Amino acid sequence: MKAAVVRQNPDGFVDLVDDWEPREVGFGEALVDVEYCGLCHTDLHVANGDFGNPNEINPRPGFRRVIGHEGVGIVSKLGEGASDYLKVGDRVSIAWFYDACGNCEYCNTGNETFCRKVRNAGFSVDGAMAQQVVVNAKYAVKVPAELDPMEASSITCAGVTMYKSLKVGETKPGQWVSVVGAGGLGNLAIQYAHNVFGAHVVAVDGNPDKLQAAKDSGAELLINRKTEDVPAIIQEKVGGVHNAQVTAVNTQAFDQSIASLRPMGKLVAVALPQGNMELNVVKTVLDGIEVKGSLVGGRTDLAEAFQFGAEGKVKPIVQRADVRDLNDVIESMHNNQITGRMVFDFRSL
Ligand SMILES: [Zn+2]
Ligand SMILES: [Zn+2]
Repeated sequence: MKAAVVRQNPDGFVDLVDDWEPREVGFGEALVDVEYCGLCHTDLHVANGDFGNPNEINPRPGFRRVIGHEGVGIVSKLGEGASDYLKVGDRVSIAWFYDACGNCEYCNTGNETFCRKVRNAGFSVDGAMAQQVVVNAKYAVKVPAELDPMEASSITCAGVTMYKSLKVGETKPGQWVSVVGAGGLGNLAIQYAHNVFGAHVVAVDGNPDKLQAAKDSGAELLINRKTEDVPAIIQEKVGGVHNAQVTAVNTQAFDQSIASLRPMGKLVAVALPQGNMELNVVKTVLDGIEVKGSLVGGRTDLAEAFQFGAEGKVKPIVQRADVRDLNDVIESMHNNQITGRMVFDFRSL
């Protein structure tokens, strides 16, 4: 069957092969017939070998690593012990957080994404950019029937990441949140902040089209970072934000976000830019500033993020794509030509 695998010498692109077969379904595992799988920048990093060569991590002789961690599909077969968690016909998700040890300090306290034995779909274990994928039944979060499966694929990654980071920022109704970077992550952050947490949103971006989309998603104050003084406007108009959600991949965005906080404000780092942020120690002490990192979300976060999508409070921007065009889409993503998420359709193959 068809699968998109990382090249032998990772170069940022993938090979679409026809002769791929999933591994045997083991104890506690299930086989999933993939319907849709989205592609995000993390996949591009994996395909480029930026986190190490995925083909050399838990390798399976004769097969290369399948990418994809924004998958949605239907359970078609259960391994022994899996029926406690899933049944044939369930729609489930395949997320970057594939599974963890289930028995450490982080797993036992609801912080399972930080488990030192975590496995990531499409990186350290075969992912969902294939016609079938094997999942750990305990860890495959079910997708509500009312949620469109293409939209679900986007919530599996971007949606849950921002839903979780708004929790990490301790966002409360009526507070002001800045969303810095109004792209795929940022747009969902605005929707969750406004429609789920009941917060007021400041959107910051350098692209007027993305700012317009931010306004349509519920942002009340729009700032163009290329032409305006971001911290000065935020301090003047709203007295500083309670938390800043930084999804922009430049370190200047972090520095501006620190300066945009009100006393006791929190900066939540989501993006992964190269370099460091400037953190003034005096301001940190005198204003009681907090800086936190947030990494995707666990199973409960994902189930909640899905449910808000099913209730229509959050609507990801998605476009259907043909898996045979994968490398063209990768090229377009590198050139920043994609709005919303490209979701590959495996049902039509
Ligand atoms: Zn992703
Ligand atoms: Zn663990």
